[in-house]
Amino acid sequence: MYCSVILRGSVRETDRQYTYKIPEDLEDKVVPGSFCNVPFGFGNKTRSAVVISVSEDAGAGIKGIKEINSLIVDYPVLTTDLLELIDNLSERFNCTKGDIIELMVPSCVEHHKSPTEVFTELVDRTAAEVVLSSGTLRSAVHANILEYLLKIGKCTRKELQTAVSASSAQVKAVEEKGLIRFTKEISLSDNEQGSTAILDNVPTDGKFSETYDLNDEQDEAVRRIVDEEGKVIPGVHLLFGITGSGKTEVYLKCAQKVIDAGGTVLYLVPEISLTPQTISWIKGRLGGVVAVLHSRLTDKQRYSQWEMIRTGKAKVVVAPRSGVFAPADNISLIIIDEEHDSSYKSESHPRYSAKYVANIRAKKNGAALVLGSATPSIESFYAADKGYYDLIELKYRARTSAKLPEVIPVDMKEQVKLGAGDILSVPLRQAMAVAFSQKKQVLLFLNRRGYARTLVCEDCGKPVSCVNCSVGMTLHNNRRTGSQSLICHYCGYMIPSSEATCSFCGGNHFTKAGFGTQQLESLLQEVFPHEKVLRMDQDTTVSPGAHREIIERFSRKEASILIGTQMIAKGLDFPDCTVVGILGADLMIAASSYRASERAFQLITQAAGRAGRGDDPGKVFIQSYNPDNPLFKYACTQDYRAFYETEIAYRQKLSLPPFKAIGEIVLSLEDESVLQERGRDLYHYLSDFLSYQDKSYEFELYGPVPAVIYELRGKYRLSYIIKSKNKSALNAVFRHVMNDFDHVRYPLSYDNDPSG
Ligand code: ADP
Ligand code: ZN
Repeated sequence: MYCSVILRGSVRETDRQYTYKIPEDLEDKVVPGSFCNVPFGFGNKTRSAVVISVSEDAGAGIKGIKEINSLIVDYPVLTTDLLELIDNLSERFNCTKGDIIELMVPSCVEHHKSPTEVFTELVDRTAAEVVLSSGTLRSAVHANILEYLLKIGKCTRKELQTAVSASSAQVKAVEEKGLIRFTKEISLSDNEQGSTAILDNVPTDGKFSETYDLNDEQDEAVRRIVDEEGKVIPGVHLLFGITGSGKTEVYLKCAQKVIDAGGTVLYLVPEISLTPQTISWIKGRLGGVVAVLHSRLTDKQRYSQWEMIRTGKAKVVVAPRSGVFAPADNISLIIIDEEHDSSYKSESHPRYSAKYVANIRAKKNGAALVLGSATPSIESFYAADKGYYDLIELKYRARTSAKLPEVIPVDMKEQVKLGAGDILSVPLRQAMAVAFSQKKQVLLFLNRRGYARTLVCEDCGKPVSCVNCSVGMTLHNNRRTGSQSLICHYCGYMIPSSEATCSFCGGNHFTKAGFGTQQLESLLQEVFPHEKVLRMDQDTTVSPGAHREIIERFSRKEASILIGTQMIAKGLDFPDCTVVGILGADLMIAASSYRASERAFQLITQAAGRAGRGDDPGKVFIQSYNPDNPLFKYACTQDYRAFYETEIAYRQKLSLPPFKAIGEIVLSLEDESVLQERGRDLYHYLSDFLSYQDKSYEFELYGPVPAVIYELRGKYRLSYIIKSKNKSALNAVFRHVMNDFDHVRYPLSYDNDPSG
């Protein structure tokens, strides 16, 4: 017996099927979807591979056939539907089939038999503290690595990397400084992994195990998705329900019906909202059949969840984006909560869209796909509007006592004239004071972390920018040194603010410009000295469980003010929060992306949706220098449809998605003049190539222009935008480019759904 396999993580040159002989003792076990080790290449290096097909004979003319070494897992790791998707997805996302297999078979499966894992720990705690306080570190990531280990002691290298978003090279660099060391140890069992064992010790908060009788709207919504016998109504359902309308309850009810009828459910949520809170709701309601995947699991924990799914023990899979590849059989229902969230699209290679994958998996399985949101993406709403999706609306808040908040625009130009400063307006201060007097809570939303935005040179007026990236650096208070640092939010480069010099004129006198969450926190302590403030942003949530701890403390009312970036806009439910302030609203619209307005509208609506979820009506203040912008008006009245109508007209006029597909090719090189030169080659090639294509593809080429961030991590970047009637035409163009250009001289990346 023989089989054809594809290597996991193959590169372009090795991205094809290879034939291997199946050893006799494995003949019964090797089937399509099996995962095995094979000898590969001249040196017979061991590689892992997925079996695509099995046959009696090897096919004519193949010589020197090697034998499979071993099976890595006894049962097939891929379901039939996943196997059948490999080709489609590698075409769609312009990557190898082996890249897709890597997404479908996570590395924990490959390594699950290995008894040891690499751990990291500090060489010397005091030494680490000294380095941190000295202000000599030039990398915010290095600092975070040390802070993390100071806090939790020891953890696996993997966990460290995910927890502080560090690359393998960054961790290695800290080791080379002699500050941390690596050890190989027998991996601990699941429950001994203290810092990450969030799966089993979730508080089953009584509040969330409570069930409600669905109201009429919810009831109708469920019936549009699952019928009386628990059979789903296939197709895409867009559950468009205002914030607080009880969408979660609809998901859970549908899921329960599907499980009772013997089906499996994939329940996707944005990574950020995969909090113990959410996990405990779902576990509490659906019982022990729930598997959870998220980025903070250790390999062992992940493997045990994955195995539960593959062997069919789990009936529900709760996961972020990557969960769309979960090897669940018999999928009847796929839920994508907060479907507009940008985290459903991967921003690194392979740049896949979980919504696309969910859509075709649902089709293959005859399943229902439910996309839920209070502010659907323009593309999804358009599809519903055209009748491709079933539009289900929830128009009222589920708790009859909960009313939509009153939204009040505040003109900051007037506030500054009045002498109120540019951070907290008078009406917002007054409402906060009233809330505190009633023992209520306040949420302040500011999508900019750090102290002030940046330092601006007093001589030439330019902001201090990063030496590696052409973006302004952000001021942060450093709590160890008690001084301030400037940090680049793109590459993590860090300098003490006292050492800043202007890269344009050499000046060294600076003023602060803009304000961030840290400065807001200081101001609040002055204005409301008796109120306790919590702050949630990337800087305060580095350590494990920090995110959860802040939410729990605010829920327990240990603080009356919660400040946060977009992290707090989503999904949280604080019944005693009656005032929400949205600060720096103009910043969101100013972002240079055709989706900026959409994002701003979503963020404001979500943030506003945090107010008045309990019995008391809420007030939301939007502070802006342009309060007349129609977008704020629509956000104030929570009028999604009015916003949609304006936005879709604009998209049509400029032939932007969903009317035409957009692809972006980025060329990046260290030497700016070489970049210009090769950039011209690429331009001539593209314009020439496109001019020969059939008019029906409607190709348009724009660029090259400097990419949104022209200089990034020491490389300069040129961007080419191509529009066309559809994505497959765009992908075909890119494949031609990749075939005709040398990848070393022309380092290209491509995205057929660029966000910016
Ligand atoms: P959404 O996700 O649509 O913003 P949630 O699902 O968080 O809304 O529900 C909002 C609140 O209403 C929650 O506190 C939830 O427990 C409550 N709720 C949901 N359905 C009902 C119902 N049928 N009756 C009473 N309260 C409900
Ligand atoms: Zn930088």
